[in-house]
This record gives sequence, structure tokens and C-alpha cells, in this order.
Amino acid sequence: MISDGDILKIKSTTNMYDLIEHLGFVINQKGYILCPFHDDKRPSMQVFKGYTKKDGFYCRSCLIGGDIIKFIQLYMNMTFDDAATWIAHEFGIPIDEEIGLTEAERAEISGKIAAKILSRSVDERWIEVVCSKLSMISGRIHLYESIMQCEASLNEAEPFTDMFCQMANRIPILKGEWDYWFDLYCDIIKGG
Ligand SMILES: [Zn+2]
Repeated sequence: MISDGDILKIKSTTNMYDLIEHLGFVINQKGYILCPFHDDKRPSMQVFKGYTKKDGFYCRSCLIGGDIIKFIQLYMNMTFDDAATWIAHEFGIPIDEEIGLTEAERAEISGKIAAKILSRSVDERWIEVVCSKLSMISGRIHLYESIMQCEASLNEAEPFTDMFCQMANRIPILKGEWDYWFDLYCDIIKGG
């Protein structure tokens, strides 16, 4: 059994943010990550930074929450003692090791985590690229449309200025590009 003193030591030495980042998750500006415990499309797991009781995670979608040890228990499918011991080792926290993981077990777990990080980070990077393309294209479409409106209202007698025609020609091309990226986005979201 891991002692209460060691648990306190682990919880007060590390925190949820460090652990989450250590595992390769990307925490957004609002303090949310993609929940690894359900099929999350938008980051819905809140990560709390603090010490002892305030430190933890909570998913607003699947309603799973807890502290750093609970996170590792669920994420790596470990017992409480193994999860606590694993965190202590990862962060170099000295504890009295009565029941610990063997070197081989630790290596196996590190391998599993690396594989998880790899598969997820690829998806997240893709989603980021596609979303930024989509917002750039739709931003440009809106800009062109407002320029056209402006041109038309300024030149009521002759609304079809060069600028107006250029914008009018560009918009269908941009809409085609938007459709292309949107299809890609749907494929990624569907897990394709
Ligand atoms: Zn969740």
C-alpha cells in the first residue's frame, strides 16, 4: 500500500496541468482539453490547476472527474497504487516503494502512452489546420461580400465596378474551396 504521506507528497509536488501536458494533451486558453474518456469533438474536459483538493479534471460531457491519480487510473487502466507510483516516477518524486511497478511494466506503460499521444496529436493538428483554413476562407467570403455591397451602394448608377466584378468572380471559387475543406473536416470528425 502506498502511504498517505506519499500520496500527499505526490499531490503537492505535481499538479493537473503538468500531468496533462506531460501526457501530451493540448490545454486550450480556457483550460479545456479533448476528453480521452468519450468521443470528444470539442474540448469538454476542464483541467483545474491548484493544489490538493482544487487540483483535478472534470468532463462536462461524460461527467467524469477527479484528481491526478484518478486521471491516470482511468487513462492507463491502473490501480490507485500503481497510478500514484507511476506519477511519482515520472516526476521524480521520491516515495517509499513497497508495491511498485517493475522496470518492464514501466517501459510497457510508457510505450502505450507514446502510442496514444502519437495518434491523438496527429488528429488534433489536422483539425487545427482545417479549422483555420475554414475560418480564413469564410472570413474572406464575408469580406468580399461586404466590399461588393459597399461598392454597389457607393456607385448606384454604375454598380458593376472592376472591384465589384473581381469580388463577384472570386466568391464562387472561395465557396468551392470552403466545400473542399469542410468535407475534409467532416472526414476527420467522423474519425476517417
Ligand atoms: Zn468526457
